[in-house]
Amino acid sequence: MATKKASKLVTNSPDETEQIAQIIAKNLKGGEVFELVGDLGSGKTTFVRGLAKGLGSSDSVASPSFTLSHKYDTGSLTIYHFDFYRLNQPGVVALELADILNDPRNVTLIEWGDIVHGILPEERLAVKFSQTGDTVRELEFNYFPDSDYLMKGL
Ligand code: ADP
Ligand code: MG
Repeated sequence: MATKKASKLVTNSPDETEQIAQIIAKNLKGGEVFELVGDLGSGKTTFVRGLAKGLGSSDSVASPSFTLSHKYDTGSLTIYHFDFYRLNQPGVVALELADILNDPRNVTLIEWGDIVHGILPEERLAVKFSQTGDTVRELEFNYFPDSDYLMKGL
């Protein structure tokens, strides 16, 4: 198993969190999977908003807590944004997710992904969000050597 790498960044505002995600967005090739980990209000959805903007999407990004998933169209890739906070059993949703993960034209971001861990690829980028102040968040990126390219420019 390849060793994971980790790096941490501190952001001081929602805008800064979006900017970090926009930089990563520029590096995307398609097929990437992000697992976003952290308490409510730690900035996971804000990160997705920046990523969608960075890919040129003008769709509005909001938490898919009730609908479980949102899809954002960009000129090139399609972003799938899942939030499984309210999901009690994987069932048919996991099957749908598995199809999405297998398509290299998609970029998938998952909040509260514990319930679907079994079907997530091992080579995913995990981002841990911690609230360390009113408007301060620490982002810890855990990634594989193969996904070094995603961190370019940060
Ligand atoms: P989550 O999806 O993790 O529940 P959201 O992104 O929906 O979190 O909400 C984060 C909240 O925290 C927003 O209200 C946002 O304005 C606020 N916030 C304050 N500072 C930051 C920061 N540095 N990064 C991200 N969000 C921040
Ligand atoms: Mg959220």
